[in-house]
Amino acid sequence: MSYVFPLAQAAVPVAGSSDLYPVRRIYCVGRNYAEHAKEMGFTGREPPFFFCKPADALVPVMANEVGKVAFPAKTENYQYEMELVVAIGESGKSGKNIPVAEANAHIFGYAMGLDMTRRDLQLALREIGRPWEVGKAFDQSAPISAIHRVAETGTLSHGAIWLKVNDVPKQKGDLADLIWTIPEIISNLSEYFSLEPGDLIFTGTPAGVGKVQKGDVLVGGFAGLGELAIVLV
Ligand code: MN
Repeated sequence: MSYVFPLAQAAVPVAGSSDLYPVRRIYCVGRNYAEHAKEMGFTGREPPFFFCKPADALVPVMANEVGKVAFPAKTENYQYEMELVVAIGESGKSGKNIPVAEANAHIFGYAMGLDMTRRDLQLALREIGRPWEVGKAFDQSAPISAIHRVAETGTLSHGAIWLKVNDVPKQKGDLADLIWTIPEIISNLSEYFSLEPGDLIFTGTPAGVGKVQKGDVLVGGFAGLGELAIVLV
């Protein structure tokens, strides 16, 4: 007897080609820009912490396209978090216990992503020490641009990141201001999980997060990678 599973492999287009990057897991880093940590009520350099979204939460959006994202149920405070996303690739080395100095060799490329959040649910769960899934890991909670190969972009350690809502600037930061750098994030995460090709890491959001509503147009960008645009429907 054999089982036939529906083809449900989540994938993200690779910029400048017809290739697809098959997605295995999505990891997200919490509070990784000091000014955002402050607006969430925290200061100081805590160890990095992580949460996950399911791979099928991704909504891939091509450049020059406006992706349609469904406004989710059960929230009165739906918020955006613009982030640089790292895509892990084939390095020929173990994905476990990756040293910081070798972390960049595990990078396939970079994308722009939105860590969409039902903030009211997340904060209510945070208050009582419960998991964040319904606040963070819901359907269509991860709009993402095409992935730009590292061969094209070079290793990224700085660069402007921004987000506008209905043309009004809301978020503005620079990757150089990450509390935990990308190599540090990769190294730390690999102590807990084996990082494999297909794993995406949302690296954290700069200050300026806020509430959006149906009909709003969100346009985010990262220097050199173009823009990611969505409309909430
Ligand atoms: Mn985030």
